[in-house]
Amino acid sequence: MAADSKVDLEGIDGTRESGTDFVRTIVRDDLRAGKYDRIVTRFPPEPNGFLHIGHAKAICVDFGIAAEFGGHCNLRFDDTNPATEDPRYVEAIKADVRWLGFDWGEHEYYASDYFERLYEWAIVLIRKGKAYVDDLTEEEIRTYRGTVTEPGRASPYRDRPVEENLDLFARMRAGEFPDGAKVLRARADMSHPNMKLRDPLMYRIRHAHHYRRGDEWCIYPFYDWAHGQSDAIEGVTHSLCTLEFVSNRELYDWYIDNLELRSARPCQFEFSRLNVDYTITSKRKLLELVDGGHVDGWDDPRMPTIAGLRRRGVTPAAIRSFCDLVGVAKTEGRVDIAMLEYAIRDDLNHQAARVMCVLRPLKVVITNWPTGKVEHIDAPFWPHDVPRKGSRTVPFSGELFIERDDFMEEPPPKFFRLAPGREVRLRYGYVICCDEVVTADSGEVVELRCSYDPETSGGAIPDGRRVKGTVHWVSAEHAVAIGVRLYDRLFAVAEPGRDGNLIADLNPDSLDVLEEALAEPIVAKTAPGTHLQFERQGYFYSDPVDSTPGGPVFNRVVPLRDSWSKSLTAGESARRSDVPGGALVEERPLTSARSGAGSSGVRKRRKRTPAEARALVRESDADLAARYDRYRAELGVSDSEADVLTGDRALADFFESAVVAPAEAEAVAKWTVNEVLPAIRERSVNELLFDGGVLGILVSMVESGEVTSRVGQLVLEVLVAEGGDPRAIVSQLGLDVAIDVATLAKIVNRVIADNPDKVREYQAGRGALIGFFMGQVMEEAGDSADGGAVRQLLLEHLSG
Ligand code: ATP
Ligand code: MG
Repeated sequence: MAADSKVDLEGIDGTRESGTDFVRTIVRDDLRAGKYDRIVTRFPPEPNGFLHIGHAKAICVDFGIAAEFGGHCNLRFDDTNPATEDPRYVEAIKADVRWLGFDWGEHEYYASDYFERLYEWAIVLIRKGKAYVDDLTEEEIRTYRGTVTEPGRASPYRDRPVEENLDLFARMRAGEFPDGAKVLRARADMSHPNMKLRDPLMYRIRHAHHYRRGDEWCIYPFYDWAHGQSDAIEGVTHSLCTLEFVSNRELYDWYIDNLELRSARPCQFEFSRLNVDYTITSKRKLLELVDGGHVDGWDDPRMPTIAGLRRRGVTPAAIRSFCDLVGVAKTEGRVDIAMLEYAIRDDLNHQAARVMCVLRPLKVVITNWPTGKVEHIDAPFWPHDVPRKGSRTVPFSGELFIERDDFMEEPPPKFFRLAPGREVRLRYGYVICCDEVVTADSGEVVELRCSYDPETSGGAIPDGRRVKGTVHWVSAEHAVAIGVRLYDRLFAVAEPGRDGNLIADLNPDSLDVLEEALAEPIVAKTAPGTHLQFERQGYFYSDPVDSTPGGPVFNRVVPLRDSWSKSLTAGESARRSDVPGGALVEERPLTSARSGAGSSGVRKRRKRTPAEARALVRESDADLAARYDRYRAELGVSDSEADVLTGDRALADFFESAVVAPAEAEAVAKWTVNEVLPAIRERSVNELLFDGGVLGILVSMVESGEVTSRVGQLVLEVLVAEGGDPRAIVSQLGLDVAIDVATLAKIVNRVIADNPDKVREYQAGRGALIGFFMGQVMEEAGDSADGGAVRQLLLEHLSG
C-alpha cells in the first residue's frame, strides 16, 4: 500500500508544471480514491454564436484534463433555448474545437436529445412533492423570491396537490397554455440563504421552433435543470465551468440528490473565466459587432473568436500554449494581451521563414552600381537557426526600395539607420552611404541617392570600421506588389464596454490596409495559409480567403516588437558575426553546394561551428580563457554554459554584471544561455534594452520564489521587447499575485489544522493524500503559487 502510493506520487504528482492546479489535483485524488474508474468531462457550448478565446481556455481545460488522466471529453451542445440557436453555429463550433487539436470521438451530444428524459425526471420530482406548477408570472416570481437579506414568500400555488401538478404539467407539454402562462418550479426552500434554491424555475412555455426538435416541444428546460441532468445521463464525472456558476452548484447537487441519481454522480467545479484586456469574451457582444457591421463577420482577423484568430494566422499551438500559460485558478483577473502575443511569437519563431518586404517604400538609387547589373544573393530562410537548410536568391540591383521609416533627414541621437552622409548595411547586401536626398516641391523625400562599397559584399565590414544599422530592402525592378493588412487591437480601451458603450470603445485604427507594400520575388509564390516573417516587421500569414494565385494578401499576425525593429542597430552583431557565440548566428549567407550557382559575388568560406569559433577566440584572448576557467571552478557554471558565455567579451561582461550573488551564478548562467540568447537571436547583448543588473534582479526573483519560472520567462520577453523594471512588468501583466513562502506556510498550516483526520490517515501511510493537501493549498494560494514549493512545505509539515 505504502509502496504503491509512493509510485503514484512520483509518477503523477507535480511532473508537469500545469499538473498542480486545483482541478487536476481534485481529479487525481478522485481517481486515487477510486471514486471513478475513468474520468469524463464535457465542453458544453450553446450554439448561439462562434467560440472565442475564452472558450479556448475552457476547451483546453476540459479536453486537456480528460486526456491527461486517460478519460474522455464529451462535446455537448447545450441547446435548450430555441430562440437563439442555429445549426450553422454547431458546425462552426465543431470545426473550431477540431482545429484547436481536440477530438471528442463518438461523444457528440445534444441536450435537446434529452428533452424526453428530463420531462420524465420532472414528473419524478412532482410525484415526490419536489416540483410544482406555478401560475405566477416570471415578474411576480422575482418579487416573491426575496433578497439576500430577506427570505422569499411562498407562491400561492406552492402547495398544489401532486395530481393537479401532474395534470397541469402534462397540459403545459401538450400546448394548452400560451407562453408565460405557467412555469414548473422545483419545490426547494423559499428561505434558503442561497437565492438559487428559492424554488428555481425548471420549465417555461415557449411556442417556438427548435432547430433540431422542430415543433415537437413547447416547454423548454432552464439551464440548471438541464445541465446537471445532462451530465448525469452522459456519465460525466467532473463538470468544469466558470466561477459565475459557483452559487448554482448547490442547486446542481439538489437536483441530483432529489432524483437519487446515485450511480453516476457528477460534480461541478468552477475555475476563473478568461478575460483579456482590449478585447471581449461574450458571444452576445461579439454578435453585436458582427450584426452591426463593425467587423467583417465572425472570422474578421481582429475578432477574438477562434475563427478570427485562425484567419489572422494564429496557430492552434500558440492558443494552447497561451491557455497553459494562463493556467487554471480561482482568482478572477484580466490577462494582458501581451501574453497571447508572446505565445504567438514563440510558436511562429520556429515555423516562419524569413523574407524581406518593404511596407512603406522609399526609393534608393545606387549611383556607382554598374548599369544593368543584377546580382543574385543567396540568403537563408532561417538565419536564426543556422543548421537548418534552405535559402533563396534575392536580386540586388541599382534601384532599390527601403522602408521609409529607415531614413531620417534629421536623425535624433540614437537613430542608427540611414541619414544624409551616413552609412547603413543592407541585409545580405552591401554597405551604402546616403550622398544626396531628393525632395519633391512639397518637401517630401522621394528618393535617396547613395553609393555602395564593393568591399562589403554579403554585409562584410572591413576591420576597424563601424556600421551601426542594418535595414531590409527590395530591388525595384524585381519587387512584387503584395496586399498587406496591419491589425491593431480591436478596442481602444482595456475593458471595452465598461462604461456601457461597447461601440464607442472600438479602436478606429484597428485595420491599416497598405497599398504599396513591395516584397522580394519569392513572396509572390506564397501559397495561401503560409506563415512568413517579414524581417524586422513581424509575422505575417497569407490570407486563406483573399489571396489569389501569384497574388498573396498578408495579414500581420503579430509585430516583432523587438529592439531590432525599434531604434536599435544591428551593427554590433555585424562586427561580431565572425565570432559567433552560443545562439548568436553567423550573419553571412549560408553557402551550400546546391545554392552555389546563384550566389555569384558572395564571398564563400567554410563556416566554423560556433564551438570552434569560441575556442579560437579564447586561444587569442587570455582574459576570456581565464574567465572560462574561473566560471567553472569558482562559480559552479557548467562546462557548456561557461563555453558559450566566454565566446565573446560582451556576453561575458553581461553575464558578470548580472551575477549579484555568487550563489546565483549558476542560475544566471542558465538564464543567459537558455533564455536571453535565444530571445535576442542574432543580435548582441549590447543592443538589449536592459543590462545585466536587470537580468540579475529577475533571476533572484525567480530563485527566491517571488515569481515562478514561467512568469520569469514572460517578464524576460517584455524586457527584450521594451526594457523596463522586472517588478513593474510583473505587476503590469497582473502576474504579481505570487505568494511568498511565509504566506504559503501559513496556508499550509491552516489546511493541516483544518483536516486532522486526513493528517492522521496520511501519517498512517496513505501517502496519496498529499494530492488532497496540495489541492487545498493551491486552491487558496492561486495559480501563480509555486507547486514545487507547496509540495515541499507540505512534506515537511506533514512529517512533523
Ligand atoms: P458567452 O457569454 O460568450 O456566450 P457562455 O458561457 O454563455 O459565454 P457557453 O457556450 O455557454 O458560453 O460556454 C461554453 C463553456 O465555455 C462553458 O463551460 C463556459 O463556462 C466556458 N466559457 C465561456 N466563456 C469563457 C471564458 N471567458 N473563459 C473561460 N471559459 C469560458
Ligand atoms: Mg451560456
